[in-house]
Amino acid sequence: MAREVTAQVERAELRQAAKDAGRRFVNLAFPDGVGDEMDFHSMEDMAGEAVRGVMQGFAREALWTQAQNFGTSQPCPGCGADCEVDWSDRTLQSRYGDITVPEPKCHCTRCKRDFFPSAAAVETGRT
Ligand SMILES: [Zn+2]
Repeated sequence: MAREVTAQVERAELRQAAKDAGRRFVNLAFPDGVGDEMDFHSMEDMAGEAVRGVMQGFAREALWTQAQNFGTSQPCPGCGADCEVDWSDRTLQSRYGDITVPEPKCHCTRCKRDFFPSAAAVETGRT
């Protein structure tokens, strides 16, 4: 069952920020102005690339910020020993293309196993 997620800003505020970014992207893409040869389909393709970039940057930053909740150590699910949190990259497939995100990873020297702390651990207050 999906739980309700509350953002700290209204969605309308996010949309407005994205529209403002879109205007800046046009200036970046066409510093000398938009020529007559540019048709709407081409503009849509370029905007799609920008949207993919925004989504990838948003997801990476949000996941990184969320992962900071794990702190510097996590208990081993097998023996409970305190294990240092290390980081590796993980590639996720999204509707907007692959995204490489930082993933917390721990190794228990007692059990000699790796484990990956999950968001559920944070939700239950385990640190
Ligand atoms: Zn262990």
